Amino acid sequence: MNPDSMRIGHGYDVHRFDSEYVEAKPLTLAGVVLADKMSLVAHSDGDVILHALCDAILGALGEGDIGQHFPDTDPKFAGAASGDLLQQVLLMMGARQHYLVNVDITVIAEVPKLTPHRVNMISSLANLLELPEQRVNLKATTTEGLGAIGRKEGIACAAVVLLAGNA
Ligand code: MG
Repeated sequence: MNPDSMRIGHGYDVHRFDSEYVEAKPLTLAGVVLADKMSLVAHSDGDVILHALCDAILGALGEGDIGQHFPDTDPKFAGAASGDLLQQVLLMMGARQHYLVNVDITVIAEVPKLTPHRVNMISSLANLLELPEQRVNLKATTTEGLGAIGRKEGIACAAVVLLAGNA
């Protein structure tokens, strides 16, 4: 593989928890709807993992960020399924003749506990990204009670992706 054709990208996203559970907007992470009766405040479905991934891929392509491509001022994207946004980013990647080598994701959250959802989330990510599960790594950490995340006010996610391709 020509090392010149490899590109790394990093993405980071944070969403605040809604003060109450919004039935129309259940907590959705990595495209999986969790049954934890929590909601995130967001223009779209607030899937921080998919948003961080979109930003990481866009970053690797040198294509700016998710806000540029899917502005949250545009009513077209209100309540958007983040899986659809990710599909569009993957199409851009394909059009640029690049493909994903692997992704590494770190969710930073005090709640909910992600261990029970991990297997489903990895399977969903592998599906969305069309990658074998061994190339999708998902980690979770807390902030040991420090700061806004530690006060259970929201969820953050960091993602790193490696792309390979032509040009
Ligand atoms: Mg976001």
